Amino acid sequence: MKWYRRTGWPLRPAHERILRAFAEAMAPATSGMPGAAGPSGSRSKATGPELVDVVPAIGEYLTFWPQGRVQLLRLALTAFDWLPFPHRFSHADLVDRRAFLTRLDASPRLIHRELLMLLRVLSGSGYCDDSRVQIAVGSESRCGLAPGEPLPSVPALVLGDLTPEEEGEDCDVAIVGSGAGGSVAAAILAEAGLDVLVLEAGPHLDRHTYPDEPLAALGALYRDGGLTIAQGLPSIPTPVGRAVGGTTVINSGTCFRAPDDVLEHWRIAHGVAWARQLDNEYSAAEEMLHVRKVDPERMGRNGQVLRDGAEAKGVSHHPLSRNAGGCISCSSCPYGCRLDQKRAMHVSYLPRAVAAGARVRAGVEARRVTFEGKRATGVDCVAGVADPRAVESKPYRVLAKRAVIVAGGAFGTPELLLRSKVGSPSGQLGSNLRVQPACWVGARFDEEVRGWDGVMQSYAVDEWRDLGILLEATFTPLAFGGHWLPGVGAEHQERLAAYGNIASTGVHIADRSTGRVRLARSGSLRITYRLERADANRLTFGIARAAELFYAAGAREVYPQIAGLRTLERSRIPGLETSPPPSRRLRLEAFHPLGTARMDADESRGVVAANGSVHGYRSLYVADASIFPTSLGVNPMMTVVAMAARVARGVAEAT
Ligand SMILES: Cc1cc2nc3c(=O)[nH]c(=O)nc-3n(C[C@H](O)[C@H](O)[C@H](O)COP(=O)(O)OP(=O)(O)OC[C@H]3O[C@@H](n4cnc5c(N)ncnc54)[C@H](O)[C@@H]3O)c2cc1C
Ligand code: SF4
Repeated sequence: MKWYRRTGWPLRPAHERILRAFAEAMAPATSGMPGAAGPSGSRSKATGPELVDVVPAIGEYLTFWPQGRVQLLRLALTAFDWLPFPHRFSHADLVDRRAFLTRLDASPRLIHRELLMLLRVLSGSGYCDDSRVQIAVGSESRCGLAPGEPLPSVPALVLGDLTPEEEGEDCDVAIVGSGAGGSVAAAILAEAGLDVLVLEAGPHLDRHTYPDEPLAALGALYRDGGLTIAQGLPSIPTPVGRAVGGTTVINSGTCFRAPDDVLEHWRIAHGVAWARQLDNEYSAAEEMLHVRKVDPERMGRNGQVLRDGAEAKGVSHHPLSRNAGGCISCSSCPYGCRLDQKRAMHVSYLPRAVAAGARVRAGVEARRVTFEGKRATGVDCVAGVADPRAVESKPYRVLAKRAVIVAGGAFGTPELLLRSKVGSPSGQLGSNLRVQPACWVGARFDEEVRGWDGVMQSYAVDEWRDLGILLEATFTPLAFGGHWLPGVGAEHQERLAAYGNIASTGVHIADRSTGRVRLARSGSLRITYRLERADANRLTFGIARAAELFYAAGAREVYPQIAGLRTLERSRIPGLETSPPPSRRLRLEAFHPLGTARMDADESRGVVAANGSVHGYRSLYVADASIFPTSLGVNPMMTVVAMAARVARGVAEAT
């Protein structure tokens, strides 16, 4: 039985009508693409084999959204519908709707552009989720390994029984979260002979069970269905994973060590005396996760065009290192690796932890850390929430004799500690959020790129590392990248049909801007982030460089993701830099939230001490991305692993 039959389909008929009216105007049957069904279609009736009805996929996906967000979405849909006041968009004929979207696309008003983008993302994801669209574009997802590369042999049951026991369990060390930090800590502590219990809110899925469709995978594997947003100007979508294995299940597998200058800063400015002594931790993790460099000859054209551009411009570039061994094809990392070739935590450190005696429990959400005085004694949880839409859950109590380690990630950790009324002496808990904002820059080539035939994230340009700017060739699957293409109606469809000729790169920065995570009165998480002008300018600089590299590699047009600037012609690059757009016009995403329980030896400046213990408490530790004192400027997973290993060793010695 589907969940929404029990608790309600999230879309009212009026909202379904708006979505269909939008999709029909946005996606006509042209350039070999199927058209989208209009408002006369209905959820229960077939709309004809040639028309794509976006509503069923979107509606099903929305069932994963928190209730409050769905209500806001309904309001936004209604606001959009009334934009052509006194007329309603959803009641206008098709010609008028197309003309209206064209006007809206050129509108200088922020609210117009934001609403248009919201509808584009929703309708575009629903449309591209349909296999007929994928077939029309030719973007089938076929996982491939280099010849001679053995398939990973991780049996599905290697994690043992993931079902929580009836009312609760005892252990030496309870670990909240099974991502990059929690899994590594579990393996080290279990191997040290401690009785370890890992509590994970999300479900356990692997290559046998990942959902096939992109939107279904977003719902199953991400917090809030992937709609975690750092609010500000601009608001920045900052998705994180929610599954056994954490965000590593859906990440791109790129592996970096932290730059020396960053670690030196942590040592000097934040009193992390061992920050420059992580070599052994990195080496052990690289071995465990089979980290190796991507083969430039087999990584696919998406990485190769960035490399070609960098060579033509004479700037520094290199293949990325990844934890996916000989993977050479498929680009479906954000849905869960079809081969589990990517060594995410549920196929690497967690099996190792379980082999050493650890127990892993899925669908268990920690609600509060319990204390005797200032000593952490366990965790009060609810069980049965692997599917976040579950209407029934039951209490589940964990007693931890030696320690509680919180590793819920940069959002989950402060959320739990704030809910547990942990008061850090510095008052910094939840502050200092960094997200390493990123901008997608796409480019259309005359030649075929077929990004899905290569490694999802493959190549880097690090020429501007001193400025904190890193370019990474990242191919975005159609369902998540299609809506970034400019234009509406036939113009947009023509570009979508040419998705096989699009290359893309991410422009990432080491941010100095900060944000904050706090609890709203309702108890839900509120994330805010203020992008400072200097960081916005660095992003614009990175966009300009990416455009130059793409043109040097032969691009025909470049899509910069700056509201009001649909394409960036070569001749306009200098102008963009002389008058950079205001921060709010940048369309950004972020994948690396950090720093919300900052490590600092000084309790007046940080939340955890240099051994990971929470200042002012006993037996309470943090071991995840939230302890980073600052941004890194590179992908953080390996540093989370290295730091969690360090913290876990300290816990083993102390207990
Ligand atoms: C799309 C994407 C691509 C990325 N690509 C890369 C990459 O290529 N390379 C790289 O280095 N980094 C990448 N990252 C980032 C990287 O994966 C994260 O930095 C890293 O996984 C963070 O580890 P963590 O342990 O802090 O948290 P996570 O790995 O997010 O794990 C936290 C876990 O805790 C669970 N949890 C939270 N609260 C609770 C609670 N109260 N009770 C029970 N469980 C709870 C969550 O469900 C989650 O499973 C990417 C991230 C994203 C979103
Ligand atoms: S690591 Fe990513 S690109 Fe490689 S096989 Fe797995 S999902 Fe495909």
